This record gives sequence, C-alpha cells and structure tokens, in this order.
Amino acid sequence: MRNGLPEGEGEESDGVYRETNMNAFQAKQDILEAGRRIWIRGFVAANDGNISARVSDDEILCTPTGVSKGFMDPAMIATVDGEGRQIRGEWKVSSEAKMHLAVYRKRPDVHAVVHAHPPTATGFAVAGISLDQCVLPEVLVTLGGIPLAPYGLPGSEELPTAMETYIEKANVILMANHGVLSMGKNVMEAYYRLETVEHFAKILLAAVQLGNVNILSPERVNELKDLRERFNLTGVLYACNPKANVGPAATGPAPEFGKESR
Ligand SMILES: [Zn+2]
Repeated sequence: MRNGLPEGEGEESDGVYRETNMNAFQAKQDILEAGRRIWIRGFVAANDGNISARVSDDEILCTPTGVSKGFMDPAMIATVDGEGRQIRGEWKVSSEAKMHLAVYRKRPDVHAVVHAHPPTATGFAVAGISLDQCVLPEVLVTLGGIPLAPYGLPGSEELPTAMETYIEKANVILMANHGVLSMGKNVMEAYYRLETVEHFAKILLAAVQLGNVNILSPERVNELKDLRERFNLTGVLYACNPKANVGPAATGPAPEFGKESR
C-alpha cells in the first residue's frame, strides 16, 4: 500500500508519473505528504518551501504561495504549463516555480522538485561551504557531492540562472544564503534526497565541532563508484571533491550570482 492505494495503482513500476488522471492524483498525494514531512521535520518555517511534479510535458503540479506546506489540501495545488502559466487551480502558484521549470527544461529524467530551507544544510550554504566532501559512503553512492550554487534573488529569473551550471550535474544543490533544491523521478525520491542532505550536514557539523574530519581517500571513493555500478545505480552523480574540507580555509564570502563558486 502506498498512500492508501494498492501497489501498482497510480504509479508505474519505475516510479515515474505518467499522463493519466490516477497518476496526477498520486503526484498530488505525494506533494501533500512531502509538504507535511518538510514542515514536521523543520525543513521550512511559516509558508516557506515549494514542491512540484511534472505529470506530462505541459502540466506541472506546483504548491501555492502563502500557505504552510504542512497543511495543504489537494485543491490548493495549482497546475502550470511548460511556460509557467497557471492553467488550473484557485491558489496562486509559488513565485519560485520558475526555478522548478528551469529544472524540468534541462532534466528530462526529473519529474519532481522539492525546495526547502533545512537549517543545517542551509547553514553550510550561508557559510559558503558546499557539501562535496568525500566523507559518508551512503551519501557518495546515492548523491555524490552536493555543490553550492551562487546566490540569486528568490522568485526572480536570476535564481534559476545562478543554478544553471549545476542542474545538469547534480540531483541536489545547495543555494547560497537560501536553502536546498532537490530533484527526483518522483516527489518522494526528491524528498528523501533532501532528507539525506540535511542528515549529512548534521553529521559533518558534529565532526567539525569535535575538531576533526577524516576525508575518504581517492581509492576509497573509487571503490564506492564500483559499488554503484554493481548496484546498477545510474544517472546523474556529482563528483565529491577529495580536496574539499570544512576548515577555515574553506570559508569565505558567499559566492555572488555571476561569479564562479568553485
Ligand atoms: Zn526558498
């Protein structure tokens, strides 16, 4: 059972939403569920965050602006077309839908985007420190490194442009002085990736506070790449940076939009 539906209903076996009413229904249920989870886990405050799902080439379901994502009902979810024009729904779609559309244009494999401000990962984004250290095996196998994109004004065209370089290369992106953008083949995959990033950020912060971070050697990282192949895990993987650290040398001013961040 998944969200009250028998297995196999409302979802193709590969987990990608298809152009059927049942799948649009499932995508909407997943958006409400991910919204509850990001609020309960404190990944957002007040009305922050936004979640979308591409259910067909020209239909993207997206959360509204001005609503706590922990308390949404299906009627609040708007539908926009590929250009971002709202085609269904009474509630005004989030201004950050532009960022989601930029992802869908560049990544045919992505069918869902979750954006939130999880405090520890966002703390790294504010400190100007990416999460691309070669540290935790599970993170390296599933996500690789997590790059830090330059700052762009929320809700503006500047924001997706600032992240453009990373959208094709990574499934999760830290956004300088803002938050985290997570992508997946469906909403729950994007949500779980967000959870993994915040968990990693907490562990790394604990190690930094304890005064030492042991970085895995390139040989160890290569072993994990082999493991990924053996598990048949394909798709986008952003390489971790064997030289990345979290000491004082890694800190500096938050990278500005238009300037190289690494
Ligand atoms: Zn935001």
